[in-house]
Amino acid sequence: MQFLKLFPIAALRASCVQAACLFSLVVVANSTAYSQSGLSDEQIDALNTAMPRADSFEAKSGEPPVYRAFAESETGGENELVGYLFETPDFPPEEVGYSAPIEVLVGMDLEGNLTGINVLYYRESYKSIRGDFLNTEQFPFQFKNKPVSDGFRVGRDIHGVSRATITSWATTRGIRNSARQVARAYLTDSSFVADQNSSAAAISILEEQSWDDMIENGLVKQLKVIEGDLTELDLSFAFMGHEMLGELLVGPDDYSRADREASNRIADGKMLLVGIDGNSSKPFRQERLAVMQNDEVFPVERRRFVYVGSADYGKITDRVRFAGALVLNENVDISQPFTVIYDSGIEANSYADFPQLEYQVPPVALALAQGAPVPPEFLPRSQYDFSDEDFADFEDESAWASLLNNASWTEVALLLVLLAMVMTSFLRKSAILRWVTLVYTLGYLGFYNGTFLSVSHITNGIKLGPSMFLNDLPLLLLIVFTIVTTLFWGRVFCSSLCPFGALQDFLTRFVPKKWQRELPQAIHDKAIYIKYGILAVLIITSVAYSELSIFQYFEPFGTLFYFSQSMLLWGILGMLLLASTFVSRFYCRYACPLGAALGVTSMLSPWKIKRIPQCEVCKVCEKACPTGAIRGPDIDFKECVRCDVCEIKLIDKAGVCKHSVETVAARHKTWTPVTVQ
Ligand code: SF4
Ligand code: SF4
Ligand code: SF4
Repeated sequence: MQFLKLFPIAALRASCVQAACLFSLVVVANSTAYSQSGLSDEQIDALNTAMPRADSFEAKSGEPPVYRAFAESETGGENELVGYLFETPDFPPEEVGYSAPIEVLVGMDLEGNLTGINVLYYRESYKSIRGDFLNTEQFPFQFKNKPVSDGFRVGRDIHGVSRATITSWATTRGIRNSARQVARAYLTDSSFVADQNSSAAAISILEEQSWDDMIENGLVKQLKVIEGDLTELDLSFAFMGHEMLGELLVGPDDYSRADREASNRIADGKMLLVGIDGNSSKPFRQERLAVMQNDEVFPVERRRFVYVGSADYGKITDRVRFAGALVLNENVDISQPFTVIYDSGIEANSYADFPQLEYQVPPVALALAQGAPVPPEFLPRSQYDFSDEDFADFEDESAWASLLNNASWTEVALLLVLLAMVMTSFLRKSAILRWVTLVYTLGYLGFYNGTFLSVSHITNGIKLGPSMFLNDLPLLLLIVFTIVTTLFWGRVFCSSLCPFGALQDFLTRFVPKKWQRELPQAIHDKAIYIKYGILAVLIITSVAYSELSIFQYFEPFGTLFYFSQSMLLWGILGMLLLASTFVSRFYCRYACPLGAALGVTSMLSPWKIKRIPQCEVCKVCEKACPTGAIRGPDIDFKECVRCDVCEIKLIDKAGVCKHSVETVAARHKTWTPVTVQ
């Protein structure tokens, strides 16, 4: 991987559009001025961004490859070496973000402190509409002066970018891992390398041990919880308060995920691995755990327990069925023994009556956690049946606990108010309340909060699974509300909960009627299928080409509400708004892939809008329908956005179009229309 991703070679993987750009970039590169070091001005500028105090740089060399940075000597002699710069792709395995590798240029001084970073290339669905959000001031600034020995944990040590958690983690891990490799190779006298060598020595000793050796040596301790004559819960506990230890016990991926989750919830505290096995008919419950030290009891609240994995990696492999980790209270002194208690549900007078074990973090693990040398004299020499359903509850609870703990309750409250307004206006057929709701939707969901549904939620849900929605409660509420209402009544979401739909309704409302047009019927009848084609293309491309993100060219929501920096996207948005000015809900009718997906789902609705024979000649509603879904007495329900225009007209116009009041009343048994004559 060659410098500089100012000309991002890796970006070429992403699309043929970018491939087309290569030629022009090469032309630009060839015309660029180069310094004596062989670096172009652009390259030097980029290096300077990551290490502002350097005056000159040497081209990349060495193993691992680094750029050496120099500053003028204060004594007037030769320039002095002041640090190293390196690119994360040179340090495999490359960290992959939301949909592609992330490439970062990192600067580090001779004391092992980062001097700055410059994100050269990354790919994220919302990058094209939110802009280059990793290179805003806030995110890179946090790395400045960070020592390489730092944990670099997003949530604890680094603030991630909101709604870009995967990308934030991947970027931070890539920076941390490459910086550590450079420090080991080039800063051999630093305290970081001394600590690392000590840690590596400790880990190499533990690596030789099996799970059984660890039980024998006290790193793993086991607790049997008898719950009846025949059933028992077998719990294993192991201190996991250092990343090397965690990776050794449960594997790098499971540890990283658990650490990330723990970091999101608790600012401080070491993790204690909890392995779960046995043949108990009652599932393990994390809230029954407690830790006691010096007679002080620290209950393990739900937020302190994270799911680790299915024991498929590391020393724990196949030794338990599932694993979690509890985050020890920061007041627990890990250098002293503590007691782990499990409330088995028996009647008890005190904690002493519950099953429990005493845990002392062994010297090797303690040395690792405290960054202290390992005392050599302490170095050690040297099953059952659950059903998956038993543990489903445990896994779900972890996810739910995480969801609730991370939620912004103000956002949740504001969304619930909006959902209540949507349902009230829909069920009461109140045109006025619907317009008020549309203002709320456009202002709050659209421009202010940005939590609107997009077709990317469908494609990403297919690609990554529903778990990606489980750390954002407002988004999850919106998704559940939309699915349920669509299945029951059709596209209620499109009626009042879509900011772009609201914007089109406002356009139609304020544009003079004489400007408004309809496409010829024959063209309209065919054009409505374009959106289904777009939906199919987006789903296929997202599944087949995970690096390709093209939905933003078909869906203008993000362009408008995230204020895209792309002129092309603004051009597309402008054309769609212009078309919607003359043809009501033009985008909804012909181009919206999300509307297409909801339209197909709405076909399952048991409560479609019914029509009456008089509608064949009346045509009042047919003319007023904003999506052209009405044809005589029939409604093409998948095209209907449940705007209620026809239903309200049915009430208001009763008598005018000659349908009887009885017919109206029969259609609205639970509601008394106030305007019926
Ligand atoms: S069809 Fe698309 S743009 Fe229109 S309201 Fe529904 S989701 Fe929004
Ligand atoms: S006003 Fe009444 S009769 Fe006329 S189209 Fe609407 S529902 Fe049918
Ligand atoms: S007017 Fe058209 S879009 Fe609105 S509810 Fe009736 S059929 Fe649906």
